Amino acid sequence: MHELAIVQDLFKLCETNAMKNNATNITRVEIQVGRLSGVEPHYLESAFDAFKQGTICNDAKLIINTQDIVVKCDECGFEGVLMENNFLCPTCGSNNLQVTAGEDLFLMRLEME
Ligand SMILES: [Zn+2]
Repeated sequence: MHELAIVQDLFKLCETNAMKNNATNITRVEIQVGRLSGVEPHYLESAFDAFKQGTICNDAKLIINTQDIVVKCDECGFEGVLMENNFLCPTCGSNNLQVTAGEDLFLMRLEME
């Protein structure tokens, strides 16, 4: 399961950050998930809750922010959020688009004590 591997990486990242800050407990984990990242936020949340016991994130709440797909059109220069998953420029209809945001998953913020 894709999501399981992601939460395990996330726990490791949290541990490293906590150690650097001499923290023993993480209370809140905020991540950003792009719509194109292939990650299902619902599954990610379940995996997080199922495997957080015994980790630094034992008492942590996971906050998932979804990042829209942002594209830039090479034909007309349009730059903005792609509302539909058709990969056509909403302004000129070209499919010559570059994705500038929405492909990645990353850690935004940690709260620890
Ligand atoms: Zn265009």
